[in-house]
Amino acid sequence: MSEGRLYLLAGPAISLIVACVFLLVWLHHRERRHVLLFVVAFCAYSIAALSQLLWIPPDVGLNTMVSGLIYTFSIFCLVEGVMARFGKARAAPVLAAVAVLILGLLSYFMYVDRNLVARIYVQNFGYGFMFLFAAVQIFKVSGRRMVDRILFWVVLVFGLHFFGRTVLTMALSPELFALDRMRAEGADRNAMVLLFARSAFWQVLNFSLLVSGLLVALALLGAIAADAMDELKRQGSIDPLTGLANRRGFDERARELMARKESHPLSLVYFDIDRFKVVNDSFGHATGDLVLATVGGLVARAVTPRDAAARRGGEEFVVLLARTGARSAFRFAERVRAELRRTPFAMLPPGAIVTASFGIAERRPGEDLADLLHRADQLVYAAKHAGRDRILADDAAPVASSVGHGAG
Ligand code: GH3
Ligand code: MG
Ligand code: MG
Repeated sequence: MSEGRLYLLAGPAISLIVACVFLLVWLHHRERRHVLLFVVAFCAYSIAALSQLLWIPPDVGLNTMVSGLIYTFSIFCLVEGVMARFGKARAAPVLAAVAVLILGLLSYFMYVDRNLVARIYVQNFGYGFMFLFAAVQIFKVSGRRMVDRILFWVVLVFGLHFFGRTVLTMALSPELFALDRMRAEGADRNAMVLLFARSAFWQVLNFSLLVSGLLVALALLGAIAADAMDELKRQGSIDPLTGLANRRGFDERARELMARKESHPLSLVYFDIDRFKVVNDSFGHATGDLVLATVGGLVARAVTPRDAAARRGGEEFVVLLARTGARSAFRFAERVRAELRRTPFAMLPPGAIVTASFGIAERRPGEDLADLLHRADQLVYAAKHAGRDRILADDAAPVASSVGHGAG
């Protein structure tokens, strides 16, 4: 490569830097396999571009095949990574088949029917197809989130650019159609290399891959950053002991449900474990934690995804039931109360029973979350005073449930 074209090294150099950035991200999030695929993809791109630019290996045929193999591998990893990011990892065999087809055609048009133009179309259209395939796959799953939509559009436009750029620049590069004939006629190799390097196709290719490659990298980094923030937010809304939402997570989700007309009527089931201090005092805090985790599991199994369930405080659980009036909420609470009494607690002495006191309030028109919680809490308080292990509901439901054999 002549010194005047040193700028061509910018592509592989930037690609290597991008790979390093992804590597740093991956070292902190090793569970994100797709980030590792991006590292490999950008590294491989860099190696393929260097192999092509520096003529390593020097033989034209070998160089085409080696760089083609690494380019194809790079695109495969990139596309596979994008799809893995969207949870679409099962398309790998299709992509691998396309990659093999590209390499097969490439070697055919190198060694059987030598044709530079055909090779250019095979590679560019092949890679474009791989990106369009990914775009179709992720279109179905890229939801309302801005970052997902941006990534979808970047992948789509990047895929289309392989077709548009190739067709346009090949129309502007008639000299490339003559190269095979020139070689057959024994033309000087350096002259042919120069002709290729000066072609509109090659000039635009390097520039456009630099720009669009950077855009893809930025879109991927944006998606990774958004995913990390989502994860942090999710962790901040989850109670690690029970896996249910914590107070923050519950309040956020409950307000969403309250704002949505189709979730109404809404009823709140609030319960507090009876005499829980006795559990802690007798068997230790760690055992108390295990009891809470078991109760949390019971609650999680009792609710549907449209409800909001949480451990909102120490041993206090809340469930906001969507599309449920007070009467149905009462039946729900009865089921939970019965299930709780039936549940064996392996960490407690044999035969030990855990009970809870429940309050149920159906949301009144215009009532906010704090008022609803307060009303249900008052009913829990009343249930405690009435002897525990029972359910009290507001005026819209049965007044009290049958009482068991006492708690703790
Ligand atoms: P009551 O029937 O009146 O509800 O009696 P109680 O003993 O359950 O009384 P209260 O609700 O006031 O006490 C709750 C106890 O729960 C006090 C606290 O030590 C315990 N607790 C709160 N959070 C946790 C927790 O995360 N783990 C454990 N092991 N205990 C907790
Ligand atoms: Mg309590
Ligand atoms: Mg209690």
